[in-house]
Amino acid sequence: MAVPKKKTSKSRRNMRRSHHALPTSAYNECPSCGELKRPHNICGSCGQYDKREVIQSGTATA
Ligand SMILES: [Zn+2]
Repeated sequence: MAVPKKKTSKSRRNMRRSHHALPTSAYNECPSCGELKRPHNICGSCGQYDKREVIQSGTATA
């Protein structure tokens, strides 16, 4: 069984995880309403995708 020879220090562990953070620029403006939305996802405020595909109307249920 493969076992690490040395304990990974907090410094090394945190250096490894420095790549794990999401970039802050993972949001785009919705072309129809201008709200921020995740790319390749339906807009949360107007429910549109690719300018036309309306998934739900403006009435919020939840
Ligand atoms: Zn929108």
